[in-house]
Amino acid sequence: MQPFAFKLKHADGAARLGELRTPHGLVETPAFMPVGTQGAVKALRHEDVERLGAQIILGNTYHLFLRPGDELIARRGGLHKFIGWDRPILTDSGGYQVFSLAARRVITEDGARFQSHLDGSPRMLTPEAAVDIQARLGSDIAMVLDECLAYPATRDAAAESMHRSIRWARRCRDQLIRLRTSSAGAIVTNTGQAQFGIVQGGVFQDLRDESADATVALEFDGYAIGGLSVGEPIDMMYSVVGDTARRLPDDRPRYLMGTGTPGDLVECVARGIDMFDCVLPTRNARNGQLFTSEGRLNIKNARYTEDDRPLDERCSCYTCLHHSRAYLRHLYMAGEMTAGTLNTLHNLSYYLDTMKRIREAILFDAFEKFRLEFQRTADRLSLES
Ligand SMILES: [Zn+2]
Repeated sequence: MQPFAFKLKHADGAARLGELRTPHGLVETPAFMPVGTQGAVKALRHEDVERLGAQIILGNTYHLFLRPGDELIARRGGLHKFIGWDRPILTDSGGYQVFSLAARRVITEDGARFQSHLDGSPRMLTPEAAVDIQARLGSDIAMVLDECLAYPATRDAAAESMHRSIRWARRCRDQLIRLRTSSAGAIVTNTGQAQFGIVQGGVFQDLRDESADATVALEFDGYAIGGLSVGEPIDMMYSVVGDTARRLPDDRPRYLMGTGTPGDLVECVARGIDMFDCVLPTRNARNGQLFTSEGRLNIKNARYTEDDRPLDERCSCYTCLHHSRAYLRHLYMAGEMTAGTLNTLHNLSYYLDTMKRIREAILFDAFEKFRLEFQRTADRLSLES
C-alpha cells in the first residue's frame, strides 16, 4: 500500500504547489475538499464529484460514529468500500460537531461526554476513541481531537484550551503509534492512514506560535490550523493564518479547517495554505446562492424569472452548459430536488475550477497577478452577497 507522503513541487512567494500521495491516490495541492458529511456530498453522486475534479472528500466522524456506527463501517471493509468512493478521504475527529451539535456536553481532561443529537444516548469521545474510530473508518488522513473554542474568548480561556488540545494531540499520536505497532484490539482498515495535528490558540499569535511549536514537536504527517472562521474579523483571520503557516515545516502539508469563500481560498493560498474544506459551496447551493465569476447570485431573485443566460457564461459545468437561470429559478421555487443537484454541481465546479486556476498560476509564477485579478471579482462578490 502506498504510504502517505507530501511533495512540495514549486513555490511562488508563499503560495505552494504540491502533491499528497495517499493509499487511495494523488491529491494535487492547493486542494479543496468537498464535504461529504454522511458519506455523500449532499445532492450529488460520487460520479458527479469525480467528474468535477475533486481528488479528495471529507467525511464527518461525529455523524458516522453515531450513524451507522464506525464498527458497522469497519465490518464493511472501511469507509471507502462502504460508500463506494475509491479516491482519498480525510475525516475530522468529531470534536467540532460535539461542540456544535451535541446536547449536554461536558468537557473534562479525559475527553468530551455528550448526548447524541439523534436519540439522546450518552456518548464519550476521548482522544484515543477519536483515533480508534477513524482507524475503523480507514480514512487516508485522520485528524486529532482538539478542543474547539468559541469566539470571542479571553486570552486565558484560549491558553487553557490550547494547552488541553496539545495534551490531547499527544494522546492521539501515542494511540496511533500503538495501533501501528501492535494489534491493540482496534480494527485498522487503512494501514497507510496519515494523522494531522491541529494548531489552536484563538486569535492570539503568541499562543498560536506556542501551539504550532508543541504540535510540530509531536511529528505529525501534516498540520492543520483550527479554530478560525468562527466570527473573527477577516483581516485578523488572514493575519493569524499567515503568521502560523510560516511557523510550520515546509515539508508537510498545511490545512486550514472550515474555510471559506472563494476569496478566502485565494488569500490563504497566498499565505501558504495547501488544503481547504468548507460547506459553503454545497450548503449555499441548496439555498439557491450561487458563486459565479461575476459575483454571487441568488436564484430566488425575481429578476431571473425570464433570464435565458446560464448561471455563469465562463463556466463549463453541466448545469451551465444545459440550463438557463429561468429554469433553475423555476426548479428552486417549485421545491424540486433537482434544483439542489444542479446548483451544487455548479458551485462545486466553481470552487474546484478556482483551485485548478490557482495551481496553474503558481506553476507559472503568476500567482500574484491571478490574486489581484481575483480580488477585483471578490470585491464584487462581497458587494452582491
Ligand atoms: Zn456552472
